[in-house]
Amino acid sequence: MILDNLIEEIANIHKNRQNLIKSANKRALGWLSIYTPEEIVYAAGIIPFRITGETRTETPKAGGHMHRNICPYVLSCLEEGLDRVNDFSDGVIIANACDARLALYDVWKYFLNMDFVHMLDLPKQIDSSTKDYFVHEIYHLMEAIEDHYNCKIKEDDLSNAINLCNETRMLLQNIYELRKKPSPPITGIQALDIVKSSMTGLKKEFNTKASRLLEKLEKSDMDSIKEKHRVMICGGFFDHTHIIELIEKMDAIVVCEDLSNGIKYFEGRVDIMKEPVKALSDYYLEKATCARMADSEKRFNHMWQLIEDYNVQSVIYISLKFCDSNLIDFYYQKKRLYERDIPVLLIETERTPTNLEQIRTRIQAFLESMGLF
Ligand code: SF4
Repeated sequence: MILDNLIEEIANIHKNRQNLIKSANKRALGWLSIYTPEEIVYAAGIIPFRITGETRTETPKAGGHMHRNICPYVLSCLEEGLDRVNDFSDGVIIANACDARLALYDVWKYFLNMDFVHMLDLPKQIDSSTKDYFVHEIYHLMEAIEDHYNCKIKEDDLSNAINLCNETRMLLQNIYELRKKPSPPITGIQALDIVKSSMTGLKKEFNTKASRLLEKLEKSDMDSIKEKHRVMICGGFFDHTHIIELIEKMDAIVVCEDLSNGIKYFEGRVDIMKEPVKALSDYYLEKATCARMADSEKRFNHMWQLIEDYNVQSVIYISLKFCDSNLIDFYYQKKRLYERDIPVLLIETERTPTNLEQIRTRIQAFLESMGLF
């Protein structure tokens, strides 16, 4: 009960983010990609929050500006923008992560009448030259923020911001560490709620509550879910809790999310011994686990490490409709997983729960094929 309350308190940071950010009385900048160095925004005294698009699952206005065969995450973010859902913010950083986001940048810049719309270019290959290029891109972002918001980003502020974000990463990593146990103390739905709250830009509030939760979790045990089949969810941005709920109502538990709003967001640490901008470039590019990055084998090795660490028995790979990056990458990952006898199911879905019964049948058949039920 205490645990549920603490998790609820953390989830409420995300649910009430608009009011909380407004009451912080600071400027706020939205971002969409986990390759956005939030530390730069923090160091400028601005709140960096993730635009999730979740308040707009129907996207009639966005559909008037972009093709319908664009991924629903991008369409719902645009719908939120057109409806000025995040009216406390006057800017957005869009990373050049895929064609859908490139198109989103154009529409946002020309139709949203927003003060600050910045494109962060993002390499696909990772080597010393692209890391140097990304250093340049981070400096470009810094200068754009300094010019626009009439501020100066000092090295001390940047170091403090790196420490703050590293603390969030460390707390999330420690919470996830406990999910490796035979009896994970939190469910997949709770994990998604916790990670979402960590992306609201209210990191001090999050860190305080997350460290209290961690303390309690370390002493807890959920005996009732000991014997369940252990599933890992993979993909890009995914917050369709109905699907997680479906899985967890069957004889299974989601123990790990290799998603952009899961482990991909908070893995690793920025090296505080390096020059800060170089450290940020290295950190963000070395992650390289998003399907838009070129190295599929690196992604598989990362996934395999998670499978071993979390004792995963099967993988459900979720791709939003029309996401070429994830749909193409899936076939490589599927082949590699089959080679190691890990069953995998692809679900291609919208953000709305419209095809939930079909998905339920497919997940049930998948789990049955492994002898469950
Ligand atoms: S889900 Fe795919 S198509 Fe959509 S923004 Fe992410 S990478 Fe691009």
